[in-house]
Amino acid sequence: MSTVSAAPLAPAASAILPNAPVPGLGGSRRVAAALARVRGGARLTFDEGLTLFWEATVLEAGAAADAVRRRKHPVDRVTYQVDRNINYTNVCIYRCAFCAFYRPAGDAEGYVLPFEEIGRKVEETIALGGTGILLQGGIHAELPFSFYEEMLSFLREKYPQVHRHAFSAPEIHFLAKKEKTTIADVLARLQKAGLQSVPGGGAEILEDEVRKRIWALTKAPTLKWAEVHREAHRLGMPTTATMMFGVGETHEQRLQHFDVVRRVQDASLADGVESFTAFIPWTFQEENTAMDGTVETAGGTDYLRTLAIARLYLDNVPHVQGSWLTQGAKIGSVAMSFGADDLGSIMIEENVVAAAGSHNKMGEEAMLALIRDAGFTPVKRGTVYERCQEACCRDLPAL
Ligand code: SF4
Repeated sequence: MSTVSAAPLAPAASAILPNAPVPGLGGSRRVAAALARVRGGARLTFDEGLTLFWEATVLEAGAAADAVRRRKHPVDRVTYQVDRNINYTNVCIYRCAFCAFYRPAGDAEGYVLPFEEIGRKVEETIALGGTGILLQGGIHAELPFSFYEEMLSFLREKYPQVHRHAFSAPEIHFLAKKEKTTIADVLARLQKAGLQSVPGGGAEILEDEVRKRIWALTKAPTLKWAEVHREAHRLGMPTTATMMFGVGETHEQRLQHFDVVRRVQDASLADGVESFTAFIPWTFQEENTAMDGTVETAGGTDYLRTLAIARLYLDNVPHVQGSWLTQGAKIGSVAMSFGADDLGSIMIEENVVAAAGSHNKMGEEAMLALIRDAGFTPVKRGTVYERCQEACCRDLPAL
């Protein structure tokens, strides 16, 4: 048997090259310093975030994100939900370049679901063990405000046990403009009608140059997206923050997105009001969209690196969700060791991402197997991360 004796390191080299690779880590001294700080509980700076995007190996970023996730959630469990996305209309006045879901007014394929049809979908959700619905539409210019109030009231009265998570920031912003009132007023009226929490949809990349390029600026500039979430928090409604990336944005622009979320969360936590429950990054699906073939979309490695850096940067957001829907079950499985402590919903129905070519599907049994195979205990949760009240979960420590 031959032995290999390690050659002594040359300290002079690292003194001359401040960014020289650190033996055994594979990355750079700047990466090692940033990760040591974050592992010690410090907050990443913007520049450190950029260093991680540019210089960290995906495994370095993932290992640090896993350590931080285990510090925040020491029990080896991964949560998931059973809910349904109900798109009450696909008619939309906007033409986002990344969207394959919308239909313009007057299009033969345009629809608005009758309440009875929405009720039927909720009943199917309940029968499958679902605890919530996510209501989201295109932005329909003709629906009166009373439509939204009546839809919420109908659901609250008929299915009080089903959580109503509804209306993205662009829908709320549009209603405020249409009603010539404030975002806070729209949210308060919807809350009175039965709204319980607000999803993070419509965020795409929270940087207005990118929003302009992908035709998402008019529907909600970054400041309006942030205002909707701040006002919802002030009214006592939890919300989520999402990011759709891989639309040709730079790493700086991804970090600017993280920064908007972190600042909104800081402000809401400082006020002692509600806040973001989770950060949900997912990747742009290009099929059938106006952007098909125009940008380099994000693959698995880019997704995992971004997920890990999100976990590290967003030190004030409790949960980070892995995306099996856009990345498939294999990457979804790895995501649980890259900072994700949740895999989102099995999604009994999903139309928006499916329209853009993502046809990943997962039943509850498959979700349970995926989480167990990755070495974690699956725990079913509710929309705002309240734990399942079934006997299997009742005795676990609080989330
Ligand atoms: S992403 Fe939303 S706002 Fe944009 S076109 Fe599609 S449905 Fe309309």
